[in-house]
Amino acid sequence: MNVPVPAEILSARLHRVTAAMVGLGIDALCLSIGSDLPYLTGFRAHESERLTMFVLRSDGAASVVIAELEAPMLPEVEGVDVVAWGELESPTAAVDTVLGGASRVAIGSQTWSRFTLALQSHREREWLDAEPLMAPLRMRKDSAEVAALRASAAVVDSVVPQIASLGFEGRTELDLKRTIEQLTLDAGLATVDFCIVGSGPNGASPHHAGSDRIISGGDAVVIDFGGHKDGYCSDTTRNFVVGEPPEGYEAAYAVLQGAQQAATAMVRPGVTTDELDAHARSIIDDAGYGDRFIHRLGHGIGLDVHEPPYLVEGDGTVLEPGMAFSIEPGIYTPDRWGMRIEDIVVVTEDGVDVLNQSSRAFYTVD
Ligand code: ZN
Ligand code: ZN
Repeated sequence: MNVPVPAEILSARLHRVTAAMVGLGIDALCLSIGSDLPYLTGFRAHESERLTMFVLRSDGAASVVIAELEAPMLPEVEGVDVVAWGELESPTAAVDTVLGGASRVAIGSQTWSRFTLALQSHREREWLDAEPLMAPLRMRKDSAEVAALRASAAVVDSVVPQIASLGFEGRTELDLKRTIEQLTLDAGLATVDFCIVGSGPNGASPHHAGSDRIISGGDAVVIDFGGHKDGYCSDTTRNFVVGEPPEGYEAAYAVLQGAQQAATAMVRPGVTTDELDAHARSIIDDAGYGDRFIHRLGHGIGLDVHEPPYLVEGDGTVLEPGMAFSIEPGIYTPDRWGMRIEDIVVVTEDGVDVLNQSSRAFYTVD
């Protein structure tokens, strides 16, 4: 799906990326499927065996190499040439021609290996991963991107109280999942990209996909869902308990909520992603649940639901205004229950802007 971005913003992004290329000594950038391309052009390449590739040279010359039959799908972007390849022509040869004498070329990390390998066979060039070039640009969201993330978050927030009023008992996870997906589309997301409904022991599997398990009284249920609106993602997790919570649940929940709140309160420019993860982890650890928090604290979000920076030991990103990411600690007790609280936050000039606003307490449901 293409992303609506005003022409002047696209032009500013193209200038920023070419300046960064000059700084890094990169002669050309090649982008295919994935979100770097819509970030720079508004256009998302069709994932298919026919290659679509955007080639940007460090002097600013830009072309899209695309199958002749798909060329009509391209939005017009000022200053970008269209190179259409016919059904019997080699698309990688067309890219090679556009690249000309470029010797250091950065290529999008999601490009299919069959195309990367074919490009490498045409002539001797040095190929680099484009992520170190693109991630720093994409991590700092501009005000229009923050507004789009906020609008996407508002949709999922509006669905949470509707979920709480559904009857859970006697329904399967998959049945509940389908209802939530429909409610989310009705509330205004263009796509629901994931909806995790993990009841009872299934809640202890963080990426559980939903099953035929019938939800019953005393079950804790983890619900993690989101999708796209105007190109930007939402992602939130809330917790529901059918009737009385299972033993030990409330005490663990208080710790989890405290850790989530403390990490959120720590967000400001200059703090690192590692420090946020370590702070939440130390709170959960000190309460005796350290070995049950089995994943990173969070992930960047924007055009992709998971993108840099990652809130995990070793990431080392120093927070800057405009960075957007999830804060989602979890505690998982195998064979019994799981819990996770997830909000999307944005770093401001002096602190944090929490985009998700639905109540973080667990919801008691029927
Ligand atoms: Zn999530
Ligand atoms: Zn997430």
